[in-house]
Amino acid sequence: MPIRDMTLLQIAQRRRLYYKICRECGARNAPTAEKCRKCRSYNLRWKRREIKR
Ligand SMILES: [Zn+2]
Repeated sequence: MPIRDMTLLQIAQRRRLYYKICRECGARNAPTAEKCRKCRSYNLRWKRREIKR
C-alpha cells in the first residue's frame, strides 16, 4: 500500500505544480500572477501537471 492518505498526496502535488511559467524567459510565477515578474511579459502558461500514479 504505497499511498496512505490520498488527500494529503493530492495537496502536496498541487502545491508543487500549481504555478505559472513564463513563455518568454521561463521564470516561475505565482498562480495569481497576470504577468511575468522577471520580464513583465503577459505570455504565461500554466504548469499544472498532475501525477497519475
Ligand atoms: Zn518572463
